[in-house]
Amino acid sequence: MAAMRAFSCLAGHRLAKLLGVVLVVSAATVSAAPAQSGPTPEGYAAHVGSSKIIPPGSLRLDGRRMTCGQRPTVIDDQLDDYGAAYPGFLILNSKLMARVPTSVKLWIYAHECGHQFRGPDEETADCFAVQRGRRQGWLTPEGLEEICAFIRPSKGSSMHFSGSHRCESMRRCFADPKVQ
Ligand SMILES: [Zn+2]
Repeated sequence: MAAMRAFSCLAGHRLAKLLGVVLVVSAATVSAAPAQSGPTPEGYAAHVGSSKIIPPGSLRLDGRRMTCGQRPTVIDDQLDDYGAAYPGFLILNSKLMARVPTSVKLWIYAHECGHQFRGPDEETADCFAVQRGRRQGWLTPEGLEEICAFIRPSKGSSMHFSGSHRCESMRRCFADPKVQ
């Protein structure tokens, strides 16, 4: 269960390999060619056997409408993580998302959206998410503590900072008066 609680985007990287595509790893490329370097939402959904592609502007998480520019969201309940991102669309595991508090749900979506705009770096996506949450009014200091509790069990890896390190970094971003 500890592994299931650990939020990361490693699932997306693994799936990228399975699909035989090269995951875009530079922020410059992500913004320059958002949908041409990986699978399409339709191709991904077909590959994982999902029939749910939520158009941009239609996703609701606990009643709040979530948008990430013009990017759709594919619901993939087989995903071995809460969320993942490909350039051009987001992926959510709705079964896992149902288990976490609202603040964590919104943060996960915003984190995956952060990858769309800021590239593959996890800490940068975390910072994007908490600053967007503060700006849009859905993230309070109490919500940030729920996020910290959520990521606390995660172990550091070659791809990811430990949960406590990520939490400290997000606290700094949340307090930073400059919004990305
Ligand atoms: Zn990520």
